[in-house]
Amino acid sequence: MKKGRLLTGDRPTGKLHLGHYVGTLANRVRLQEEYDCFFLVADYHLLTTRLDQLEEIEQNIRDVVLDNLSVGIDPDRSTIFLQSAVPQVPELQLIFSMLVSVPRLQRVPTLKEMMRDLHITQPSAGLLSYPVLQAADILSVCGEIVPVGKDQASHLEVTREIARRFNEVFAPVFPEPETLIGEVGTLPGTDGKAKMSKSIGNVIYLSDDRETVTQRVMRMYTDPRRIHPTDPGTVEGNPVFIYHDAFNANKAEVEDLKDRYRAGRVGDVEVKKRLADALNAFLDPIRERRRRFAERPEYVEEIIVEGSRRARAEAQETLERAKEAMKMAYYRGVRHRA
Ligand code: ATP
Ligand code: MG
Repeated sequence: MKKGRLLTGDRPTGKLHLGHYVGTLANRVRLQEEYDCFFLVADYHLLTTRLDQLEEIEQNIRDVVLDNLSVGIDPDRSTIFLQSAVPQVPELQLIFSMLVSVPRLQRVPTLKEMMRDLHITQPSAGLLSYPVLQAADILSVCGEIVPVGKDQASHLEVTREIARRFNEVFAPVFPEPETLIGEVGTLPGTDGKAKMSKSIGNVIYLSDDRETVTQRVMRMYTDPRRIHPTDPGTVEGNPVFIYHDAFNANKAEVEDLKDRYRAGRVGDVEVKKRLADALNAFLDPIRERRRRFAERPEYVEEIIVEGSRRARAEAQETLERAKEAMKMAYYRGVRHRA
């Protein structure tokens, strides 16, 4: 017996990286036995900011699905689906958009960040409604737990408010989903910036080969005040050690490196070499699974088709229950026959 439903997803903007792994993929893999899991490829969400990226979308969808499979999402156990193949989701979004005010959406902190980062002066109605679409994603399958990165927590608050409001105004149909943040929080970039992010280019992709990973690690930002290997270094907040903590399975080695770094008894080169080895050891089985799935593109497509079929059936049932609660089930005969 499963504990409940889990839903989360990715926008098909390209390949997934180590930041995505610590933020959400690790929790997906960890929880897929306990929960009935739904993973959506959020292509409608892509439209909110990336109308220029539709040329690449098909390849990006494939990559995102491959990345999920390669970290260990089991297609026999979990449902992977394409958002735009489930029209019940935007239908729910329309209903939910009546339950949240415009000023409330304008206050969502990620909206301001996105506008600043992408130099958007006037958000489209679609961008403003981003959190409402997310509420529709999650609640379409009555998701109860949502593993996302730290920066997404404020969106999830909107989902909870919408669920609560719907249940108050009409009838108790929806759960109030809980947010599950990854253990590491936000993974910094290889350049030391606060967030590893594709758009900044400070990333290590899950699909990078060994040489690329080693090169990126050797060029990583560390303690800028440290000039000689004999200078005492700072471990806290140092991205090289944050990565060691997150990905190096040999905890004794990490502690030893930290002690020697603080005491000025190890050079940055050694610390980075050990990190590159640890990361490659972590990524090897992921690369191997990716290779196996990539060899079978028809199978991967079938996973998305089957998953979308299942998500659509679930979402249709949810929608019927929502309309029932809203007393919109009138003329059921007409709607079904039309
Ligand atoms: P990017 O930010 O690399 O351009 P994206 O914008 O397509 O990628 P997001 O929407 O930012 O992806 O992130 C998808 C999920 O991964 C979210 O749950 C987000 O919180 C998480 N995530 C992304 N980057 C990081 C990171 N550096 N550390 C932790 N979690 C992250
Ligand atoms: Mg981003």
